[in-house]
Amino acid sequence: MQITDIRETAIPLNSNLRNAVFDFSQMTTSIVAVITDVIRDGKPVVGYAFNSTGRYACGAQMRSRFIPRIIDADPDSLIDEARDNFNPEAILAAMMQGEKPGGHSDRSVGIGTIEVAVWDAIAKIEEKPAYQAIADRYNPGGAKPDMFVYVGGGWYAPGKGIPELLDEMRGYLDMGYTQLKMKVGGAPISEDIERLEAVLNLVGNDGWNLAVDANCGLTPDEARAYAGALAPYKLRWYEEPTDPLDYALMTELAETYEPPLATGENLFSQQDMRNLITFGGMRPNHDVLQIDPPQSYGVVAVARTIEMLHGTGWAVGSSVMPHGGNQMSLHIAAGLGMLLCESYPNTFGMFSGFADDAEIIDGYLKLDPDRPGIGFESQADLYEVMSELSSN
Ligand code: MG
Repeated sequence: MQITDIRETAIPLNSNLRNAVFDFSQMTTSIVAVITDVIRDGKPVVGYAFNSTGRYACGAQMRSRFIPRIIDADPDSLIDEARDNFNPEAILAAMMQGEKPGGHSDRSVGIGTIEVAVWDAIAKIEEKPAYQAIADRYNPGGAKPDMFVYVGGGWYAPGKGIPELLDEMRGYLDMGYTQLKMKVGGAPISEDIERLEAVLNLVGNDGWNLAVDANCGLTPDEARAYAGALAPYKLRWYEEPTDPLDYALMTELAETYEPPLATGENLFSQQDMRNLITFGGMRPNHDVLQIDPPQSYGVVAVARTIEMLHGTGWAVGSSVMPHGGNQMSLHIAAGLGMLLCESYPNTFGMFSGFADDAEIIDGYLKLDPDRPGIGFESQADLYEVMSELSSN
């Protein structure tokens, strides 16, 4: 049993949407194919992944460091003999050879994307969905294949006013979602509050059905001003007010802003998450911790982070969610029993959303127990590009 080749390519997201900090017109992502010599249904098993959204393609690092370290390793050293499958922990360790501690985002996205593609292959070899393969190893009996999903939306876009914002948000409710999130911080605060009140009205004036995301775009004074303005609405959460490493300001906000805060998608390691819960004022099982698995070294590393959180009183089912609305985050959330999962319907072209036939009912999505792997095969446009990468 052997990984015979790992290929990657960069694909543009082709989006003009904007958050508080930047637009996505230049954004790219890396698609990865991990090709094995294991045969299922008469063909070699191939695992796929992409590096989520919001961080650029990172093919140069993969080609120069991470891919050769796996291909050049003794194949037997990468096998889990007991399960007759690849060993994701050994493959992660192989990619980490020669890497200096710290500076995690220098490598965590490239390593994590390859690692998640390995999990797609592992689950296909076991002929089970990825969430089940993940739960079997890290969360036995605790998978949540009936997963609550909310929409990360409410984007800014050229020429988009409140009527267009409401059209966007109404579209999500019509799809079956019940909880929405909208961007703030990309307009003057008075305008953002007008936008917020319009959307709140749409979701039934219940703050629990609406979260906001400032994408780290606010100055400390603006973050305090938004906290003051948002507090009366008792929103589901107030996400990333400011720089992801400004733990002092997060502590200050947590002392004055009573409803939940959320952050973590721009931290990439267990140590960073430990610093956040130790020094960032985060309130266990009240605030929300966000992790983007393909950008944070992948599934094994996220499972280890969750184990660390358990030891400090944080429950994964009430306070941890993945960043990124895609099949990968969905399976990882379901496998590790996270609180909920994000969704980006129609936002980033073929990288948007879940299986083409996914149905959202009262905010819940049932994962198909009979579809092996992460299930990119059920996203026709994306799978066409992925399978092209692994053909010939
Ligand atoms: Mg966010």
